Amino acid sequence: MDSKDFIQLEDTFGAHNYKPLDVVLTRGQGVWVWDVAGKRYMDCLSAYSAVNQGHCHPRIMQAMIAQARKLTLTSRAFRNDQLGLFYRELCELTRSHKVLPMNSGAEAVETVIKAVRKWGYRAKGIPAEHAEIIVCENNFHGRTITIVGFSSDPQARGDFGPFTPGFKIIPFGDATALENAVTPNTVAFLAEPIQGEAGVIIPPAGYLKQVRKICSDNNIVLILDEIQTGLGRTGKLLAEEHEGIEADLTLIGKALSGGFYPVSAVLSNSEVLGLLQPGEHGSTFGGNPLACALAREALKVLIEEGMIDNARDTGDYFRTALSQIRTPVIKEVRGKGLLIAVELTPDAGGARPYCEKLMQKGLLCKETHENTIRFAPPLVITREQVDWAMERIAAVLGG
Ligand SMILES: *Cc1c(COP(=O)(O)O)cnc(C)c1O
Repeated sequence: MDSKDFIQLEDTFGAHNYKPLDVVLTRGQGVWVWDVAGKRYMDCLSAYSAVNQGHCHPRIMQAMIAQARKLTLTSRAFRNDQLGLFYRELCELTRSHKVLPMNSGAEAVETVIKAVRKWGYRAKGIPAEHAEIIVCENNFHGRTITIVGFSSDPQARGDFGPFTPGFKIIPFGDATALENAVTPNTVAFLAEPIQGEAGVIIPPAGYLKQVRKICSDNNIVLILDEIQTGLGRTGKLLAEEHEGIEADLTLIGKALSGGFYPVSAVLSNSEVLGLLQPGEHGSTFGGNPLACALAREALKVLIEEGMIDNARDTGDYFRTALSQIRTPVIKEVRGKGLLIAVELTPDAGGARPYCEKLMQKGLLCKETHENTIRFAPPLVITREQVDWAMERIAAVLGG
């Protein structure tokens, strides 16, 4: 079978809910992936930041194999010898008090919505069924019905209603809008520190600090969705550290397993998670020993191999190099660490054709919306590899 055959199989038997680049990958190592014909590519997407540690990291792979040989799933009906260690290591690393483990990012978001609503009724005294959560325009928090119900993207919401009530949408990056949106029934403000899917949108400096203060002053829980920005991507363990603040609840996922397996978690610095009682929430796979063993090693690798500092330094190098490309098609280069976007001018003809040309030259990246290309390589990328990428990017964007 060749690429064409694999593509035809996918298109024939699969739902067309994605528009992938037509590259059929079969193997990966570090920043590199190979297609079925043996051609090598540099991965500058990292599965939307789920493989921050690089493809098939040998230590994480060993942890997975070792745990798979011992025990994979107990369900939470019983305890296992990985879960408590995972909790403690994650709490120590992130200075959290409690953890609730789930699988996908969207599940972590759903979990936090349930938890803060309960907190609103039990701790804050909001009348039953009246809890409000404030979210931001152009957010991306996942694909479940509740989550797309508070999306402002018409494609995400489409024909999928009716939706869960109780959400209010305000502009991102506007602290005054948050202040004005607060009512006595507000339980939480949920936002991404940097909006990833919206095109790497960085809020004005000081925004998160102001948001932190508004939430504290009004007894509102601050929830940061760090599923994409967390775990080193922006050059800090969590993106909130750039403004020296701490959210009450933090969501992580994606790179929590280094891309081996879906693992997500809600991290709590407040009393919120402590309110959940047996029977109120759960997941068959959440917190399973395989996930915990994997995540423990994925976190160790991130720290011990200096990937967070590398994201900061090599990210600066990457962005500087991008901004030196002389071309009329680039409107703006922006980002933090190795979460980088190149926004093209409206008359450049859209980002997709550039991504396709880059693919032909051996570099994989993806458009977000019409005119933006996101570059988010694994955090193990070296300067030499950035130079390699830049030759191709300059050739394609430079015309
Ligand atoms: C990817 C992502 C999610 C959803 O994670 P899934 O594992 O795809 O459900 C939620 N929030 C943000 C910010 C994300 O980038």
